Amino acid sequence: MITQIVQMKMLSAYGVEPELRHCVICGKEKGIFDYSIKLGGVICSDHFGVVNSRMHLKPKETAVLRTIGLLPTDRLGTITINEETKKATRKSIDRIYRETIDLNLKTKKFLDELKLF
Ligand SMILES: [Zn+2]
Repeated sequence: MITQIVQMKMLSAYGVEPELRHCVICGKEKGIFDYSIKLGGVICSDHFGVVNSRMHLKPKETAVLRTIGLLPTDRLGTITINEETKKATRKSIDRIYRETIDLNLKTKKFLDELKLF
């Protein structure tokens, strides 16, 4: 899981701070969550219907994601995750990492092009 933890933490180097603490729409901190790459954070189940860009992660996977993002690195060794969830979480973090950076590079490219005029 170390690679994934580093990836999550690395995103901030790209100017992306994934919002994992609370729902990006209403700020709710407890409940069932999913992740939206476009919105750059978690959304609570109240907004599953209105956010098309959500990843459709299992609640447990988003929970692991939030734990990884929020827990201080030195305490991450203490979390136990079963193999299946681990695998799924690994896949979703890879995707978040890749697509978030992609999105940011595109935005940057767009802004760079705008400067030409
Ligand atoms: Zn919400």
